[in-house]
Amino acid sequence: MTELDQWRARVREWLSATLPPKAADDAGDPDDLAVFHNLSVAAERALLARARAYQRAKFDAGYQALTLAREHGGRGLPAAYAMVLAQEEARFAVPPSTELISVTVGLVGSAVSVFGTPPQRERFARAFLRTDLLACQLFSEPGAGSDLAALRARAVRDGADWVVSGQKVWTSGARFADYGMLLARTDPSVVKQAGITAFLVPMDADGLTVRPIRQMSGGASFNEVFLTDVRVPDALRLGEPGQGWEIANATLAFERTASGAGKRRKGGSVQDVIALARRLGRAGDPLVRQRLADLYVRATLHASTVERVANATAAGRRPGPAASITKLMAAQTLTLTGQVAAEVLGARIAADTGEPGTFAWTQHVLGAPGYRIAGGTDEIQRNIIGERVLGLPGEPRVDKVPFSDLPRT
Ligand SMILES: Cc1cc2nc3c(=O)[nH]c(=O)nc-3n(C[C@H](O)[C@H](O)[C@H](O)COP(=O)(O)OP(=O)(O)OC[C@H]3O[C@@H](n4cnc5c(N)ncnc54)[C@H](O)[C@@H]3O)c2cc1C
Repeated sequence: MTELDQWRARVREWLSATLPPKAADDAGDPDDLAVFHNLSVAAERALLARARAYQRAKFDAGYQALTLAREHGGRGLPAAYAMVLAQEEARFAVPPSTELISVTVGLVGSAVSVFGTPPQRERFARAFLRTDLLACQLFSEPGAGSDLAALRARAVRDGADWVVSGQKVWTSGARFADYGMLLARTDPSVVKQAGITAFLVPMDADGLTVRPIRQMSGGASFNEVFLTDVRVPDALRLGEPGQGWEIANATLAFERTASGAGKRRKGGSVQDVIALARRLGRAGDPLVRQRLADLYVRATLHASTVERVANATAAGRRPGPAASITKLMAAQTLTLTGQVAAEVLGARIAADTGEPGTFAWTQHVLGAPGYRIAGGTDEIQRNIIGERVLGLPGEPRVDKVPFSDLPRT
């Protein structure tokens, strides 16, 4: 038995003692097809409580932060160990998770562990990795998404504090977060990437307002966050002034290699569409069969590419631009799954007749576009693939001047 086999056996034993196994047919609820939750505040809290209970059990048993270096409070294990854990978790009924859990554990918890001062690590690292505290990601702004380094939220030093003003947007889970990891401009006189600093901001600070954004699929997973003269103690600055861009990039990379922290099923799957066609007696229609076959091939190609990238990561290679290919394929498969389901359903998708597993597909169709935007849009992934995989000429860069000299739009 190799060490990895022993690890798998240990993980399986722990999971068997902690969670029920997944149902044999993995059929689940035919109406649970939402890409984004559409829940009341109380239901969202209950979902978070179940997800947190599992994350705590995982932390306490030593299965959290596996790939994080030992000196940063992790287990310092190769990525192959995290992959085995994710594979084994897939066999069990892991409680459904949310974006806020993966941001807290995979992104902010790791960022504090690596870049935090000893007191910050003492106070926050364990609390975030164990989800005792929850943290959202205050990065995007109305004028800074794909071009994140163009952000305009400002933090000005005032004695022992920083005074922060600006607006953030699309902040997943902000209503339930205790802290936000914020990027703000602290020096406009240098090029845009160099003048950014990272902070941990208490979400109940005076001057901070969270306003939920109602999505077309019904729920309000993300929010606008307004900051007006919010005083943030210097003790909550993460890293050095001007180090924010480096921290943001490093933490986004942690997110990609996080050990399946809080992964959740998003929308319907190809198997759900095939089951739908069979249920509605449409699986014999040659045109439907052609669409199902196309979807199946694409979903299988996506799964194989994910596996190839995971194996390369597990073998110690960086995913690099290959991660852009899997992100693009994931968004395309999610979109196509909804399109084929809508074609199979025909008029049934237009009105809720109470028939299970039919109108519920609207939750998938209306949620899927969000994943063509989140975590880097389709166009940005194509730019990365074009420039770094295909070696095409790069985009013209006109912004290598001090931020304060950039034209305002
Ligand atoms: C589900 C979801 C969850 C999110 N959660 C968070 C969160 O928790 N915290 C947070 O900070 N942010 C979050 N975001 C925001 C997300 O990071 C941004 O929406 C994303 O980076 C795109 O930025 P934008 O919306 O400003 O669009 P823009 O950058 O303004 O893009 C608009 C359009 O222009 C295209 N475009 C832009 N630049 C280029 C280019 N150089 N070449 C070609 N085309 C281009 C884009 O592809 C897009 O089609 C979330 C978004 C979604 C959808």
